[in-house]
Amino acid sequence: MAERVIPIADQRAPVLQPVVPVVDACQAPSGLLLDARGRPLRDLRISVTDRCNFRCSYCMPKEVFDQHYRYLPHGDLLSFEEITRVARLFLAHGVRKLRLTGGEPLLRKDLERLVEQLAALRTVDGRAPDLTLTTNGSLLARKARALKAAGLSRVTVSLDSLDDAVFRRMNDMDFPVAGVLEGIAAARDAGFDHLKVNMVVKRGTNDHEIPAMARYFRGTGITLRFIEYMDVGATNGWRMDQVLPSAQVIARLQAELPLVPLAASAPGETAKRWGWAGPDGRHDPALGEIGVISSVTQAFCGDCNRARLSMEGRLYLCLFASQGWDLRSLLRGGVSDEQLLGAVAGIWGQRSDRYSELRASLPADSGSSGTRRIEMSYIGG
Ligand code: SAM
Ligand code: SF4
Ligand code: SF4
Repeated sequence: MAERVIPIADQRAPVLQPVVPVVDACQAPSGLLLDARGRPLRDLRISVTDRCNFRCSYCMPKEVFDQHYRYLPHGDLLSFEEITRVARLFLAHGVRKLRLTGGEPLLRKDLERLVEQLAALRTVDGRAPDLTLTTNGSLLARKARALKAAGLSRVTVSLDSLDDAVFRRMNDMDFPVAGVLEGIAAARDAGFDHLKVNMVVKRGTNDHEIPAMARYFRGTGITLRFIEYMDVGATNGWRMDQVLPSAQVIARLQAELPLVPLAASAPGETAKRWGWAGPDGRHDPALGEIGVISSVTQAFCGDCNRARLSMEGRLYLCLFASQGWDLRSLLRGGVSDEQLLGAVAGIWGQRSDRYSELRASLPADSGSSGTRRIEMSYIGG
């Protein structure tokens, strides 16, 4: 019988080999590394697994990520010690924020042990890093306490609908909304403040849920963020007509409840903030705020300060990249910290990615460097 053809390009290839400086040429990190467009390196997103217990159609469609899909063997994944070493070096280069993601990060066994190791690291200013996690929430009720005790600073939970039928369809594993809401409640009980909820808005699928989601989280202290459905990866069959521009999300909400624009809280922030207004027309902090992430209709590449580390130790400079830099071969090849720092400085120094600004002029499915893009489940959000 002919072997089944898996309809996906090997998302892990091609790989780029970093240039490792000779020991004598290594410079101490300055804590301010700028790329070719003058953008600093501030945020490292670490994907800890390529597996997930959901099959959201916009991320891991079932037809591709089925029982034949070849996930990475455990030995290919970076160990917690290797991840911690990379994170420590990135902090020396000026990173302040570490985000654990995946696949579904809570599927990685003993994740709290990694959290503990990362929480003990320090930024160049001697502070604890802002250590966050993005999760689908399905395992959060079981894990929230241990994550908090291990030193996790914040949690973001993805939830695309409050309508159980819509949600079960979107995660395509028949997982109920109640399970995610339980996870959110457990995170609050465990002491996580400033929780965020991410809703990917897909026109015609869950955009009718926007007002219900907004009303549900308004006044709870939880910030709901609406994310434009993105053309990340090459398997979700993305079409522009399935994107609901954030401007329309805001317009729909303002038709029912007053919102006022808020200032960005940090440079490089992906979400535009809007506050719920009180009777005087001004932002009422008790009602809280929402965010919109407009990666399709309003590119924010100009101050993009994020790097992404895949579970097998490849460094990606853009969410829409097609190629990653193989740091694992250096980690496992006896390269010193100084040399690794030099290699990362060289990689970041030549970065010029700005995919979202160029999207309209690039061929379909191509990445920031013009070839097939990697998948969201491989690189995290
Ligand atoms: N499994 C975890 C989760 O869902 O939160 C973490 C990984 S997931 C890839 C990270 C974020 O990316 C989630 O908030 C998810 O909704 C979002 N995401 C995935 N595919 C997307 C797409 N095509 N467009 C916009 N956001 C997407
Ligand atoms: Fe899994 Fe998250 Fe992707 Fe959904 S968005 S399939 S939960 S990795
Ligand atoms: Fe950053 Fe790439 Fe997104 Fe632009 S497209 S904001 S460079 S990740």
